[in-house]
Amino acid sequence: MKIDELVCRDNEKLTLENIEDYRRSWAKEIGHMPRNSEIWQHLVDSELIEAMKTRGVRTESGVAPFAVMMKPFSCPGKCIYCPSEEGMPKSYLSDEPAAQRAKLLNFDAGKQVESRVRQMDETGHMTNKVDLIVIGGTFGSYRNDYKREFFKDMFDAVNGVKSNSLEEAQKYNETAGRRVVGISVETRPDWVNEKEIKLWRELGVTKVQLGVQAFDEKILKSIKRGHDLDSVAKATRLCRNAGLKICYHFMPNLPGSSPENDIRMAEIMFVDPRFGPDYLKVYPAMTIPGTQMHEMWNMGEYEPYSEEKLIYVLKEIKRLTPPWCRIDRLIRDISKKWVVAGTARTNLRQVLQKELKDEGKRCLCIRCREVRAGVYDASLDLLMDERDSLGGKELFLSYESRSGETEGKLFSMLRLRLPLKTEKMLFEELEGAAMIREVHTYGQVQQFRESGGDLTQHRGLGKKLMAKAESIARERGFKRMAVISAIGTREYYRSLGYELKGTYMVKEI
Ligand code: SF4
Ligand SMILES: [Zn+2]
Repeated sequence: MKIDELVCRDNEKLTLENIEDYRRSWAKEIGHMPRNSEIWQHLVDSELIEAMKTRGVRTESGVAPFAVMMKPFSCPGKCIYCPSEEGMPKSYLSDEPAAQRAKLLNFDAGKQVESRVRQMDETGHMTNKVDLIVIGGTFGSYRNDYKREFFKDMFDAVNGVKSNSLEEAQKYNETAGRRVVGISVETRPDWVNEKEIKLWRELGVTKVQLGVQAFDEKILKSIKRGHDLDSVAKATRLCRNAGLKICYHFMPNLPGSSPENDIRMAEIMFVDPRFGPDYLKVYPAMTIPGTQMHEMWNMGEYEPYSEEKLIYVLKEIKRLTPPWCRIDRLIRDISKKWVVAGTARTNLRQVLQKELKDEGKRCLCIRCREVRAGVYDASLDLLMDERDSLGGKELFLSYESRSGETEGKLFSMLRLRLPLKTEKMLFEELEGAAMIREVHTYGQVQQFRESGGDLTQHRGLGKKLMAKAESIARERGFKRMAVISAIGTREYYRSLGYELKGTYMVKEI
């Protein structure tokens, strides 16, 4: 097959996250690594086309995400929609790109990272900042020694140097040529506890993906999730108070729900102070052979929504998403052959985008507002959103453009956590501290005008937001600021006067 045929064949499955995997698989068939220009002209997704046209997607933000899969291990859960495949961690199917690579490499963490680095180097991408996304079964249910070994192997592979211990590998990474700027793990809310979070921090984890699926006790019961909403609230509070970034997985179209109920649940997720995820992955339920849900479908006890209804639900979710949340994914990257009912069409995203556009609606989530990497002249407003959450306040500070070609775009953001003074903190170094859970700058500004101010030259938007956060915390009576820094960004915070205390970068303010 020729490259255009291959791209067309796989078009429906392509996402920003997996396109580099596909590039590699096409390379095998055509005998050379296809260039961006050979690919983008055959794509259908406008977001992907834009990204491939400009520079290639992975490293657009300067950070290369690597998914690394842990070995198969039985999951304590019995969720009725969850597929099992021999030789794969529960819920993963071997034809997903990251899963394929992991299986081929016998789930060796080091080899998975090395193969990813090589692959990205070959396609001309920068790999000096990597974001490790640890996937597999429920993270909490793996043995602790295996977790440590897995993390040491990842760090060693990123460093390109073998170390004697995890601590040594991390120390090396602080100043290495290639740095780890974030690590996420995925787990169940009822597997989050104080001990587990302490371990995560030792491992260098900065973000957690929590499987929640439904914000409705009845549905949670009927899908056999094995946990209730209270455990979601508790896990969220614990994670937030440890400064972790939180991504929820949400599953519309489950048995017992309805489009109206899914929309109501999305509202609860965003508005209820117990919840409010920083990131969101929406995985509409899919009926996969071998699952109990498939049997229900067979017996006529479950019928997924029509495509029209599903698109309506997804559009409403986008409409409800507040500006401080980032929708990482709306559809799961899964091959058609597994799905007998429900959303086999993975170009739903494109259909959705088109409809939103035609209706003149915009999604306000972070992802849809991030400005493309580059240097701009812009007028920026400093915006602040403050909301209550369980155990403390959440502030979202951002620099957003007010006019011109970048109008409405997000240039830089910061998540500030102000825990209740009565809140029991997990770590001594966090006592009396406000916390910066995330700082992210998307575009550089050469000249910018702050709300009503003069035109100034400024590049360090992130630094400005940090200073703002420090002054807010000081005004509210906090004595110190703690940043949940990834191992590879510690040096940056040192340059801003922070020092390492425990696993956080801390500064008296
Ligand atoms: S907890 Fe996750 S992996 Fe385990 S059965 Fe449920 S969905 Fe599947
Ligand atoms: Zn969006």
